[in-house]
Amino acid sequence: MFNNIYGQLQVKKIISNQIIANNIPNSYVFVGQDGVGKSCTAWEFVKILNCDKNVTTSIDLEPCRKCSTCIKIEKNIHPDVHYINIKKHLFNKKIDIKNLNEYLVSKVIKYSYESKWKILIIESAENMDISSSNLLLNVFDRNYNNLVVIMLTENKEIMAVKHKIIFYSHILFFKPLNDTTLLKWLKLNYPLFVNSSKIQKLIDESNGSIGKMKLLIKNYSKHLYIKEEINNLLTNIRKNKLYISEAFNLSQSISKNKEKTLDYIDKIIDIVSCNINYSHSINILKLLFSARSLIVKNININMVLDNLFLDLLNSNLKI
Ligand SMILES: [Zn+2]
Repeated sequence: MFNNIYGQLQVKKIISNQIIANNIPNSYVFVGQDGVGKSCTAWEFVKILNCDKNVTTSIDLEPCRKCSTCIKIEKNIHPDVHYINIKKHLFNKKIDIKNLNEYLVSKVIKYSYESKWKILIIESAENMDISSSNLLLNVFDRNYNNLVVIMLTENKEIMAVKHKIIFYSHILFFKPLNDTTLLKWLKLNYPLFVNSSKIQKLIDESNGSIGKMKLLIKNYSKHLYIKEEINNLLTNIRKNKLYISEAFNLSQSISKNKEKTLDYIDKIIDIVSCNINYSHSINILKLLFSARSLIVKNININMVLDNLFLDLLNSNLKI
């Protein structure tokens, strides 16, 4: 259950028991620093509740991720699932923050259109207007049973001072993630970084947050990390130590957007161009430029990278 969520065993257990017992509170407050899984848990929970396969009675409590409901939730286009980020003043349905109460009345506080549960996820909930939280509280007073509000906050104290709704909510605490969990995430998303000399420093500086770790990696990537990762990659290819599965994982992790991938390839090109140790540099550069131009032409990035890594593996690079 909640296999996609790193750590947070206690939270997962509590929510799972509530689902199994069919005893879902109207209102939750997820408390914890950014990047420890509050938002991911909320979205997984929503999928489990509404999945067309009726997984709430299954043993593993995993959403199918394939039915139209799971797909709509994933794309944030489900008519019964609403996401609001108060801090960023951004609403999924492009509604201005000043109209939050109007939005709640017209869209959220209504019976469901398609699914069993009507869900509202509010990020940075402590910044919500008091009138909005009171409005939700009044709805709960009227025994509105199929609405679940999940409020995410880093600051329980402000929530408690401002919003009476917290006293009527189930509060769940998300703890910082331990080193083993952070390492597990890193292995899956940045496999080559695991061999880096900076790994312990990165874990220490992440303070138990995957979100913080992502930001640090982004910074590293601008300076040292990416250079080190690429050097590791080229060394592994050269020494025939890169396994195909590892190459595919890498391609998956860097192919998420076009700019990031082009940036990555440009950095490999820089390193290869400046490194006279690569006797087959010209051939490697040809492969890199060809992959680059395919990505610019919007060919499937994942496919291009898979082929690039396979070609690099087959090119027998030698020092
Ligand atoms: Zn589903």
